[in-house]
Amino acid sequence: MILGLDIGGTNTDIVLLDKNEFKIFGTIKTKDFDLRELEIDYEAVGIGIAVWFKRGKMVLAPNLEKIPFIETEKPKILENDAKCFAYFSANTTGKKNVLALTIGTGIGTGIVIKGELYKGDGLAGEMGHTFVGGRRKCKCGGYGHLECYFSGWAIGDAKSRLEDRSIYGTRSFKLFCKSVAAAIMLLNPEIVTFGGRIGGRLDELILKKEISNLVPKVFEPEFRVIRDDFAVAKGAAMLARDVLGKRF
Ligand SMILES: [Zn+2]
Repeated sequence: MILGLDIGGTNTDIVLLDKNEFKIFGTIKTKDFDLRELEIDYEAVGIGIAVWFKRGKMVLAPNLEKIPFIETEKPKILENDAKCFAYFSANTTGKKNVLALTIGTGIGTGIVIKGELYKGDGLAGEMGHTFVGGRRKCKCGGYGHLECYFSGWAIGDAKSRLEDRSIYGTRSFKLFCKSVAAAIMLLNPEIVTFGGRIGGRLDELILKKEISNLVPKVFEPEFRVIRDDFAVAKGAAMLARDVLGKRF
């Protein structure tokens, strides 16, 4: 039985993977989370967290105020949350080459190539922190990054803009689509998936139309919005299963 956690800026989602079936344990505030206090039996744990890892070391957490207590003697893997979402995307869509984007507080990016997570020197992806113009200050310390325009913290009233659909008419959404198109040209993924509290509620047909217009026809991938708020926690558990498998 493998515990899967998604430690985000506000909430921590908890699932348990037991013989290929997921049990949802729910969500608690990250500020109140402590792994020692969790009354769930588990053999290993996969933790997806909104942190940048370079060569396995945490280097920055632009959207996380404080990292909760996550020490344990059980086998554990710690991975960037968007990379866990990418792993979940590849496993649930059955695709081997995936570009996965989470849009919640910030923008996270995960890349799967030939069924394996691609991390470069650790930080590969991070499309949210590419320069798109202007002088808006980013949470990472930079300026003019995509996340300064299209993210939960930048949009502010994202929930109502999704409900009245005004989000699709914004310059920010166009900037986002341009950035996705550029990433498609670089990676030639079979599928692009969207998740997170905002990304998981975007309109799949509009994304497909807007982004496909920006890439040559032969590059056009599938587009899938994954409406599962536990996708990162599930991906973390799957990753722990596959990486740690033989150790417990
Ligand atoms: Zn940035």
